[in-house]
Amino acid sequence: MSRVARTLAVIATLAAAGCARHAATPSVARAGNTGSAIALMEDLTVERTIRAAALSALAHPDAPRASAVLSQLARRTTSTLAVPQVATRCPAVATHAAALSPAHAATLRALRRATLVIGVLYTCGACQEWHLSLGTGALLGDQGLAVTNLHVLQRPGAAVFVAMTADGRVHGVSAGIAANTHRDVALVRLSPGKGARPMRGLALGTDPAQGTPVWLMSHPNRRFYFLSHGHVARTYLAGTPPAPMVEISAAFARGSSGGPVVDRCGRLVGLATNTRSVYYRDKPPRDLQMVLRRAVPVSAVRALFGPNERVAHSASAASSR
Ligand SMILES: [Zn+2]
Repeated sequence: MSRVARTLAVIATLAAAGCARHAATPSVARAGNTGSAIALMEDLTVERTIRAAALSALAHPDAPRASAVLSQLARRTTSTLAVPQVATRCPAVATHAAALSPAHAATLRALRRATLVIGVLYTCGACQEWHLSLGTGALLGDQGLAVTNLHVLQRPGAAVFVAMTADGRVHGVSAGIAANTHRDVALVRLSPGKGARPMRGLALGTDPAQGTPVWLMSHPNRRFYFLSHGHVARTYLAGTPPAPMVEISAAFARGSSGGPVVDRCGRLVGLATNTRSVYYRDKPPRDLQMVLRRAVPVSAVRALFGPNERVAHSASAASSR
């Protein structure tokens, strides 16, 4: 069966099952009766939902193609957009005890609402199948802006990009706004999608200092909406020309790339980006000593917005110290 025929067959199957543009939304049922934001993720259902939506977009001639979004991203390293303003609540104490406070629960819900599963439908060139690569992203503000690592999108053979929110809605990636290869960040716009509920994203914070407590929501190895907690272990310069990076103690793995790292107020302070394993004799897979977890700080995201925003950032960063 040709790739197109296979795609149409999958869509026909979805249509027969009562699914039109998108497949059934994944189960994210609330658990317990405490009113808490605990939700049960069905990992396989999430994956199937994203795959079906991506295949559906592929069959839709008007759906933006990955190549168009990537060429838009390649043209601009900054934009004229203003940084979205979002109200945040800050727990008074930033310890593990704060995890029990109402303010922290609200921050966690906001983080979850803003965390995206980024799906990339691609061909490997060696077979006729469509493959699905999954990464993480973050909604910013309420106008459908989303940020992720550029490398999440730069997969050879990419055909379409989609993004799922925690409520199971899948959105198309309608445009690439700006990207920076050196900093590995990309700002895109999502299409509202069916139902067109307002998308509630994160506020932008400032680059975190060593010791700052941080939380990360991401999808390590297709374990969707995994929350990890830690602190900023180190701030340093990397690359050529040297640019600020941070290492965090919060756990993450492949699939977490582009995941939002937030402070105790739920403000975006970085994006989980890559890991480096340290071996005693430098001979993997034996003698693993530690895993360094690297994040690009939020100043790289701010730089994708208008020049005035970067000036405002410098002023606020200086005043917050
Ligand atoms: Zn293949």
